Amino acid sequence: MQQQIKQDRVTLITPTAPVSVAAHGGRAKCLQRLIRLAMPVPVTVALSFDAVRDAALGNLPDMAALMAPFDPQPLLSVRPSSESADWGGPSAILNVGMNDARFVSMSQVMGEAAAARLYLRFVQSYAVHVARLDPDEFHLPDIADASALRVMLAAYEAETDEPFPQDPAVQLAEVLRSMARAWDGTSARLLRQAKGAPVDAGLGLVVQAMALGLGQGECGTGTVQFVDSTTGAPRITGRYVAQNVPQMDKTDAEGALYLTRDPRGASLQDRCPQTFAQLLDCGALCRQHLREEMQVKFTIDAGKLYILDAVRVQRSSRASVRIAVALAEDGVITRQDAVLRVEPVALSELLHRQVDPSAPRNVLVTGIAASPGAASGRIVLTANEAQASAARGEACVLVRRETTPEDIRGMHAASAVLTMRGGITSHAAVIGRGLGVPCVVGASDLLIDRKSGRVVAPDGRTFAAGDIITVDGTTGQVLAGAPPMLEASLDGAFQTLLEWADTFRDIGVRANADTPADAQTARNFAAEGIGLCRTEHMFFEGDRLGVMREMIFAESSKDRRAVLDRLLPMQRADFAELFSIMEGRSVCVRLFDPPLHEFLPSDKAGMRDLAEQLALPLPEVAERVAALSEYNPMLGMRGVRLGIAIPEIYDMQAQAIFEAMVAVGAKGIAPAVDIMIPLVSAMREVELMKSRIESVANLVAGRARATLNYRLGVMVETPRAALRAQDIAAHAEFLSFGTNDLTQMTYGLSRDDAGRFMSTYVQQGVYAEDPFHTLDIEGVGELVAMGAERGRRGRPDVVLSICGEHGGSRSAIAFCRDHKFDYVSCSPFRVPGARLMAAQLAL
Ligand code: PEP
Ligand code: MG
Repeated sequence: MQQQIKQDRVTLITPTAPVSVAAHGGRAKCLQRLIRLAMPVPVTVALSFDAVRDAALGNLPDMAALMAPFDPQPLLSVRPSSESADWGGPSAILNVGMNDARFVSMSQVMGEAAAARLYLRFVQSYAVHVARLDPDEFHLPDIADASALRVMLAAYEAETDEPFPQDPAVQLAEVLRSMARAWDGTSARLLRQAKGAPVDAGLGLVVQAMALGLGQGECGTGTVQFVDSTTGAPRITGRYVAQNVPQMDKTDAEGALYLTRDPRGASLQDRCPQTFAQLLDCGALCRQHLREEMQVKFTIDAGKLYILDAVRVQRSSRASVRIAVALAEDGVITRQDAVLRVEPVALSELLHRQVDPSAPRNVLVTGIAASPGAASGRIVLTANEAQASAARGEACVLVRRETTPEDIRGMHAASAVLTMRGGITSHAAVIGRGLGVPCVVGASDLLIDRKSGRVVAPDGRTFAAGDIITVDGTTGQVLAGAPPMLEASLDGAFQTLLEWADTFRDIGVRANADTPADAQTARNFAAEGIGLCRTEHMFFEGDRLGVMREMIFAESSKDRRAVLDRLLPMQRADFAELFSIMEGRSVCVRLFDPPLHEFLPSDKAGMRDLAEQLALPLPEVAERVAALSEYNPMLGMRGVRLGIAIPEIYDMQAQAIFEAMVAVGAKGIAPAVDIMIPLVSAMREVELMKSRIESVANLVAGRARATLNYRLGVMVETPRAALRAQDIAAHAEFLSFGTNDLTQMTYGLSRDDAGRFMSTYVQQGVYAEDPFHTLDIEGVGELVAMGAERGRRGRPDVVLSICGEHGGSRSAIAFCRDHKFDYVSCSPFRVPGARLMAAQLAL
């Protein structure tokens, strides 16, 4: 039978009372669930969101009716109950109803000190939270007795010109009004909106009788949970404070006891085995029926257990995965639920070391969080120093204005990378994510004084090369020193959860992987294949850079071919290794993309080295380098334009791919290879390249007497390629949208320079988000959708994918699902998160 007290906005919580999360908040609903499970919950009344809204306006419910169910009149607690516990709320206020008369009567039963403590606590929280007095004037005294109480009550009267209210109904009314108003405060509102609360989020309040332990026997209060908040492993933890136990039996001055049997001192389990067992039963019931790991708040009153409240256990990312998997394995929730319960960012945290959240942070600058995880090391200012440092076995942080392909070996050697320039798709960011190296970019407030070898923070602090700093690529902060870290942890639960996710998702997830090491990472994270292998990154390995430079300086096609013949076996070996690692899974090899001058030295010392290597006079080298430089290299001779103007490079790459296929095929692996042409803007480019690549394939196949099965496709990363996708698709079996360049060209916004003003743009709302970070669905997305549709018109079974940095983000995955793409491809370390997000979107 539904029991109600006058207004239905004030509801006595019974098993059948109309209590809902939407009207009364999560805490009220949870308490009803506990009551339905026949748990010993003290009398509780819920005030609805509407009742609290009225209270904020001064229209309080009928106090007599509200207090009627509490008979004989106990002390009361008032707790907030919003729709989501994450949205916060005003502090709970306990011991409402405490006054001079109760103090006298309770002193006789429980002793003056215990009664004074209750009264002092109430006066203190009433003064601070209800009367809004200065908290510094209302500290709890060391000794709780009648005289301390007199002092505090006098302080209250002095500050308010009124005696402390004695009528419990008045006290309760004021508590309700102040909590209702606190919810309306500007900072509370902003805080909860930042956590996703709607503008009109309501607050419910829960008024509950307090079980105080007035009688004889065990009395105390505590919290217990049954899993470890850090690891998620089963473990009973919590705190129990006994109220009236002899001092000698206590384990600390406050009377805290161990919960479980412990050789170090008294425990609740030893002292009250039956109550303890009952508590365990309540925990098990909660888990089973609330389908969640809960922290249970309880009181023991004269040996009798009361359950006051239960909240979801706070948990680390690691624990969130383990708890979800354990609940599903025990049949408490479904596998779908487990997959939906874990935040994809939690997975990303598990893949990397993190700064211990409880450690103090000495922040020297904040930039863009470009590659997650944290690492500490000594400052080095050049790639060479980074390599030297790694050779000495010393962790280092490579600090550069920006990185160029020349820095890649230094980035490999560094524990972390920090740049002053660049955005989320800058060179440093892309390589950092690929390598799994923590990286902060665009820390434009930092100065590097190359001459003195110093780095100057915005507050003037200077750090010399060799000083230790920490790059937190998860938050974008750079910290002085080396704070404690939490290790990465890929346990069985992580793998299990992802295996379950894979059974639910309906879009492929591949990895962007450039080297065999990346490919191995991609395999470890169960990527279905490689969606983008940026082959130019292979030219920075070992001594290939020198050979590349010779090739660039070659005078004639014949000379160039001769140098490329030296690169051929290296590329062939790279591809053979990639194909072997991927064991028949698709590998999409993108032909050479960047402008050639990226391979040339940018400073005097580098030019001198090059002059020596090529046995050319320095001025000639300098002149040739200058001649190769372009005003706008990202829009210059790169990608397919190089393929057409200097065809020997693509010829060599195609030959290396095909010969690697033959070699791997001979070992019994059938490689699935996609060859991708970058930066296409016209159908004829594809036609020309296609016939050239086909003739190389025929040559290799003829020589090896083998059949070569490969697909040829196009990277759609210029707006014109998207617009002309229909005729381009006639020559391309797949279209992969390179949304980094497509964003750059659609906005006319340099991906390397945008970092300078991006934060101003986002702050002023010009762009809702950094479009290099979050796919601009309205603009760039429109082009992608149009390109996909037109591509399908040209070839109905054309394979569609996205391989820009957006590929690992939720919005891009959702977009690709909506447009029935075949797969997304992202950095290897984003693959687990992408697998989980794809599953969550499908469920
Ligand atoms: C792109 O442009 O989206 C892309 C993946 O290629 P890159 O980042 O190498 O230019
Ligand atoms: Mg590109």
